[in-house]
Amino acid sequence: MRGQRSLLLGPARLCLRLLLLLGYRRRCPPLLRGLVQRWRYGKVCLRSLLYNSFGGSDTAVDAAFEPIYWLVDNVIRWCGVGRNDITTVSICKKCINPKPARTHHCSICNRCVLKMDHHCPWLNNCVGHYNHRYFFSFCFFMTLGCVYCSYGSWDLFREAYAAIETYHQTPPPTFSFRERVTHKSLVYLWFLCSSVALALGALTVWHAVLISRGETSIERHINKKERRRLQAKGRVFRNHYNYGCLDNWKVFLGVDTGRHWLTRVLLPSSHLPHGNGMSWDPPPWVTAHSASVMAV
Ligand SMILES: [Zn+2]
Ligand SMILES: [Zn+2]
Repeated sequence: MRGQRSLLLGPARLCLRLLLLLGYRRRCPPLLRGLVQRWRYGKVCLRSLLYNSFGGSDTAVDAAFEPIYWLVDNVIRWCGVGRNDITTVSICKKCINPKPARTHHCSICNRCVLKMDHHCPWLNNCVGHYNHRYFFSFCFFMTLGCVYCSYGSWDLFREAYAAIETYHQTPPPTFSFRERVTHKSLVYLWFLCSSVALALGALTVWHAVLISRGETSIERHINKKERRRLQAKGRVFRNHYNYGCLDNWKVFLGVDTGRHWLTRVLLPSSHLPHGNGMSWDPPPWVTAHSASVMAV
């Protein structure tokens, strides 16, 4: 590509140099001078357009492979995806596979994840369509457990802490080795549980807010940008996956009947989430409810 460019630009550059040597500056006709100025201006424009400080070999390879991505995308749509009625919104440039709505590529797992929420470094796994409920349940019940533990051990913690403060008094207290270990373990337990309850509690509340809005952590950023963009144009953004606070929770937890609050939420349950993560049709009761709200 570089060779071709120099092949084209070479003769033009040579002509310009010859003109300069012949002293065109002195007796140069205005038309020719104008042409030379435009040539230089065009060259600067072209360079400024092509210049990109973030550009590199990856960008060049991506650009070169763009027609292949387009071809694969369309061939897959015609031959495979169209037949299965899966709505894809784009193609993943890393996996070279069609990407359904709400799917994102995780660079750590190196694969596309359906309804990706985030990559959790603690679980060393992605949180997405099939494990989002488990992740939230884990955070919620773990927070409850830590709060219970901190609250329940408050008196023990105070006693142990007061005892540790007397260790360096004269005369020294007559605590056995076992009692000293118990004191330190109780203080450690309380601080650990309280800090985990605070950190995990904040994360749980944040995810609860997102679930109430029918968004994932990634969609929150995308929707925020889209909301601002449309607001600038005087239009209103509508999240198509937001069915209303209560219905969002029911869809997220897989609650179809009143009994499910007990069997699927409070008790451990291995039921699958609504849908296959590729097409996003809401459950029939959500559609009926939305229709009645619209009618009102
Ligand atoms: Zn991917
Ligand atoms: Zn991941």
